[in-house]
Amino acid sequence: MGLLIEMEEGRKTKFVPQERIMESLKRYKSFTAETFVCERCTTQKKSKTKVVWETNSGRKIICNGCYGEILAKRTKE
Ligand SMILES: [Zn+2]
Repeated sequence: MGLLIEMEEGRKTKFVPQERIMESLKRYKSFTAETFVCERCTTQKKSKTKVVWETNSGRKIICNGCYGEILAKRTKE
């Protein structure tokens, strides 16, 4: 019984970071391309896709490229 609980808890902690990624990154798509400055790579972008990134230091608007980078980086960890 004790072993079963340990396994359950182990599985839970493994899944928590992924859930957090989904909550902290939200992708929005608009009908027309908008010009904005990505707050992560500080590059001016013209895109239909914008990503809202909730960080510990506040909300940031980032580009689709950075979105992919963050996901790739976190999945590796
Ligand atoms: Zn960017």
